[in-house]
Amino acid sequence: MSLPKKHLFDLPDGVIYLDGNSLGALPKGAASRAAEVIGREWGQELIRAWNTADWMALPMRVGDRIARLIGAPAGSVATGDTLSIKVYQALDAALKMRPDRRVILSDNGNFPTDLYMAEGLMETIGKGYELRTPAPEDVADAITDEVAVVLLTEVDYRTGRKHDMAAITKRAHDSGAVMIWDLAHSAGALPVNIAGSNAEFAVGCTYKYLNGGPGAPAFIYARPDLVEEISPALAGWMGHDAPFAMERHYRPAMSTERLRVGTPPIVQLSILDAALDIFDEIDMEEIRAASLALSDLFIAEVEARCPGLTLASPRDHASRGSQVSFRFEHGYAAMQALIDHGVIGDFRAPDIMRFGFTPLYLDAGDVRAGVDVLERVIAEELWRDPKYQTKSRVT
Ligand SMILES: *Cc1c(COP(=O)(O)O)cnc(C)c1O
Repeated sequence: MSLPKKHLFDLPDGVIYLDGNSLGALPKGAASRAAEVIGREWGQELIRAWNTADWMALPMRVGDRIARLIGAPAGSVATGDTLSIKVYQALDAALKMRPDRRVILSDNGNFPTDLYMAEGLMETIGKGYELRTPAPEDVADAITDEVAVVLLTEVDYRTGRKHDMAAITKRAHDSGAVMIWDLAHSAGALPVNIAGSNAEFAVGCTYKYLNGGPGAPAFIYARPDLVEEISPALAGWMGHDAPFAMERHYRPAMSTERLRVGTPPIVQLSILDAALDIFDEIDMEEIRAASLALSDLFIAEVEARCPGLTLASPRDHASRGSQVSFRFEHGYAAMQALIDHGVIGDFRAPDIMRFGFTPLYLDAGDVRAGVDVLERVIAEELWRDPKYQTKSRVT
């Protein structure tokens, strides 16, 4: 086993980092790449760097590297903007593919921004669209022939529950609906075969398991045979067939590039590019096996040593992503105490203590040491300290 690859990350001493599902750790090559892009490329080359440093090709070059990790062909993944925007674009394109249907189907465990973006888009379009959000376990049966688009996040951000991508996509297609997968908690965490699923669209972010850093650009996949059917909602010049022809009217690129919008974030893309070097050396199946082993160990240790915490994630491997969540009534304060004692996870309202398992930089020793601290926080009720009760803006 060649994991973990801790030597490829800059992690602070004395910290056990169980939050790579929310913000991946800093890869060692990232800072020097950013320094080079800022100092040499921007500083010395100035605007020439769009050509001399090939900044212009960077968004699609990085897209190709992500494509490999999600089972997509080269050229089918564009990068840029934020995931919220990519959800909006995919949803708009998908709705236009089913003009006679009026229902968007998601689930009530989906990340809020995905649902907010859907509601915002519905309001912009008018035409009486309806968003349905049944419980995740009921979503497959809710796919009827009224549904235009099924918009789901494969791995639930709160509980780590994982949808069956192949089965749900097939149900959607059997009912004539378009399928969009949000891979925010999948890309870089587990093997994804988006082309094999035959889904029309996928979107995701790169600052979680892909370690692209805060504000790293999002990505969007469109099934290659559909690209020419996509009429972009956000018709930006970087999605134009010839941006520098400066034509008066929008003419979309004949590739996934039509889902780009404006000028790409070169510094962030470069950092992401450096972060993706790590994945060149590792197979996603290997990451998945290590993640499940660490998660199983964590569940066993917490259940044995921390009574009062209730598992909120599925036990079954096929139904779980790369995070494990426990419910605890005083979860917010307990998480603050835990972080204060060097074990970083996070909290999601109302009572979820969430722990991400990123086998690139975690091993069994970290898991056991993390549970040692958690056990103390719970057994000695360290969370009762008033300093752990006040909520910060970011939990
Ligand atoms: C993290 C996450 C987001 C975040 O969207 P941003 O636009 O990057 O802030 C959206 N959707 C899901 C499912 C997420 O997990």
